[in-house]
Amino acid sequence: MKADPATQLRLLDMQAIDSSLDRLAVRRRNLPEHAEIDKLDAQLAALNDDLVRVSTQLRDLNRSQKKLDNEVDLVRSRAARDRKRLDSGQITSARELENLQAEIASLTRRQGVLEDELLELMEAAEGLEARAGAITADQERLEAERAASAGRRDAALTEIDSEVAARRAEREAIAPTLPADLVALYERLRASSARVGAAKLVRRSCEGCHLELSGADLRDLAAAPADAVVRCEECRRILVRTAESGL
Ligand SMILES: [Zn+2]
Repeated sequence: MKADPATQLRLLDMQAIDSSLDRLAVRRRNLPEHAEIDKLDAQLAALNDDLVRVSTQLRDLNRSQKKLDNEVDLVRSRAARDRKRLDSGQITSARELENLQAEIASLTRRQGVLEDELLELMEAAEGLEARAGAITADQERLEAERAASAGRRDAALTEIDSEVAARRAEREAIAPTLPADLVALYERLRASSARVGAAKLVRRSCEGCHLELSGADLRDLAAAPADAVVRCEECRRILVRTAESGL
C-alpha cells in the first residue's frame, strides 16, 4: 500500500482525533454524577417505601381511632341515659335502682378503658406523623441533591457534546482526503489493536506498542520508499515515519 508522507501524517491526525473521541466517550460514561444519581435514586426509592409503610400504618390507626371514638360515644350516651333515668325519680324498685347503678359503674369503667386505648392510639399516631414528616424532609433534601447532581451532569454532558462535535468536524475535514484502502486498514487495526491503528515512530520506538525496534527493522524502515505504508513488526500497526523517528 502506498500513501505519500503528508497523507500518512494526516492519518496520524485522524488517529489523534479518534483517540480524543474515545476519551470523551469514556468521560461521558464515567461521569461521577451517574453514580451519584443512581445512589440518590436508590435512597429515594427506599424512602418512598418507608413513607408508604408509615402512611398505611397511619391510615389503619385512624380507622381504629374512629371505631374507638364511636364506642366511647355509645358508652357515654348510654351512661347519660341511665343517669337521667336514675335522676328522674320514676324508678321506685330498689332492685331496678341497684341494677341501674351497677350498669352506670360498669359503663364508666368501660369508658375509662376505651379512653386509655384511644390515648395510646393517638400517641402512636403522633409518632408515625413525626416519622412521616422526617421522611418527607429527607426526601426533599435528597431531591435537591439529585437536582444539583443532574445539573452538574447535564453541564458536563453539554461540554462533552460540544467537544465531540468539534472533533467530529475535524475528522470530517480529514477523512475525505485519505485513500479509502488506507482508512479501511486503519479501522481494521483500530478494532483489533486497542483502538490505535496508526502510530508514530519516535526515537526508534513505535508509539503504538512502545517497543523499540530492532536495528534490522529500523534499517528496513529507513530503506523503504517515503510513500510506502509500513507496519510495526511488533504490533502490526501502521507506522508513520516523521522527522523525529531517528532513522
Ligand atoms: Zn508497534
